[in-house]
Amino acid sequence: MMRTKEEILEEARRRNVRFVRLQFTDVLGILKNVAIPVSQLEKALDNEIMFDGSSIEGYTRIEESDMNLRPDYDTFTVFPWRTQEGASVARLICDVHRPSGEPFVGDPRFVLKRVLEEVKSLGFTAYAGPECEFFLFRLGSDGTPTTHTQDQGGYFDLGPVDLGEDARREIVITLEEMGFEVEASHHEVAEGQHEIDFRYDTALTTADNVATFKYVTRAIARRHGLHATFMPKPLFGVNGSGMHTHLSLFADGENAFYDPKGPYQLSKTALSFIAGLMEHAPGFTAITNPLVNSYKRLVPGYEAPVYVSWSAHNRSAMVRVPASREKGTRVELRSPDPSSNPYLALAVMLKGGLDGVKRGLEPPASVDQNIFEMSPAERREYGIRSLPGSIEAALERLKEDTVVREALGEHVYTHFVRAKELEWDLYRTQISRWELDQYLGIF
Ligand code: GLU
Ligand code: MG
Ligand code: MG
Repeated sequence: MMRTKEEILEEARRRNVRFVRLQFTDVLGILKNVAIPVSQLEKALDNEIMFDGSSIEGYTRIEESDMNLRPDYDTFTVFPWRTQEGASVARLICDVHRPSGEPFVGDPRFVLKRVLEEVKSLGFTAYAGPECEFFLFRLGSDGTPTTHTQDQGGYFDLGPVDLGEDARREIVITLEEMGFEVEASHHEVAEGQHEIDFRYDTALTTADNVATFKYVTRAIARRHGLHATFMPKPLFGVNGSGMHTHLSLFADGENAFYDPKGPYQLSKTALSFIAGLMEHAPGFTAITNPLVNSYKRLVPGYEAPVYVSWSAHNRSAMVRVPASREKGTRVELRSPDPSSNPYLALAVMLKGGLDGVKRGLEPPASVDQNIFEMSPAERREYGIRSLPGSIEAALERLKEDTVVREALGEHVYTHFVRAKELEWDLYRTQISRWELDQYLGIF
């Protein structure tokens, strides 16, 4: 559905839109907005809006800081909630260009688009479906988030224990009003933890949807006095939040992962894609799991993967192949977490899988027993590698992976690594509560 400028202007009038937010993300995945009054909408649709990119993380140096926003017409959406004056607010997701016209290489949406060009040149269309998990915590009296959960619910529990349910219901309704097809929503394993799954779509739309989803979830939670967090592991001793991502490739309208005669009814393309994901997972983990905190989720015992493996059956593997076949044939990558920049995360996952397809790689044997119960010797026997154990280790793996680096491009790669090395350095020199409790009295 390609919308025209006139249709957008007409809808804005009809729905009493007063402000339009022009959205894009920085390299770290933080959603940025430039708000314009609706009087400027036509100008925006004509690609005439400039902004100062110099203070945006991962953008550009002071001397060439002017950037141009080019709205993607198909992303025009009116937010279902209203301002205090009763007017509506709409948004457009934008591509960032240089004043001279060419796309800005530091724009994560462009990074994904570049990988999708490659997907297309190989005759494929990529689809992706995320499972976003998050926690709902109470806001303190001063409005800052606490880590107190709102409920005592557990996996798939029903109310009345699940007090976050009201908030979750309103999040789902709001998303539906914005055109999302929500397939499921449920309480997750930990107290205060939730999951909302929306329908898979082409990779670019899914990345846009994840960015929108996080924004809407936070905004609605706040109306319920709650803070929605996508921090991967906010609480010690319970499950963290993942963003399992389902991926498939289609060619000529057919699912290219399906082959009724292949092993597990998977095509050669699917197997090579899995092999590519496995080969590049250590290299792209810094992108799919970008926080110091991400690595506190990737530990044994909490349904998150630790080892590079695939399975047609069990959930302890990093890549799982869900049971559905034919059109629904897909692979589920279970390592990413929702703190990642969705554009960059999808770019590196697809690039890794695609590299496997291009080189015709074959995956090792599917591991159908619980990997966490294997001894280190058994894991060695199966050739099972570990994911990096810290952002520091992940950055080292990223540096060695030229394919993942190529997906990011030099600009994003350099900026990302610099920002993350700084983050790691700040973290590792802190003195934590745990250390004081353990050591202060005794030594
Ligand atoms: N919360 C788990 C994770 O960190 C996933 C639980 C599930 O299988 O949905 O990945
Ligand atoms: Mg889940
Ligand atoms: Mg899953």
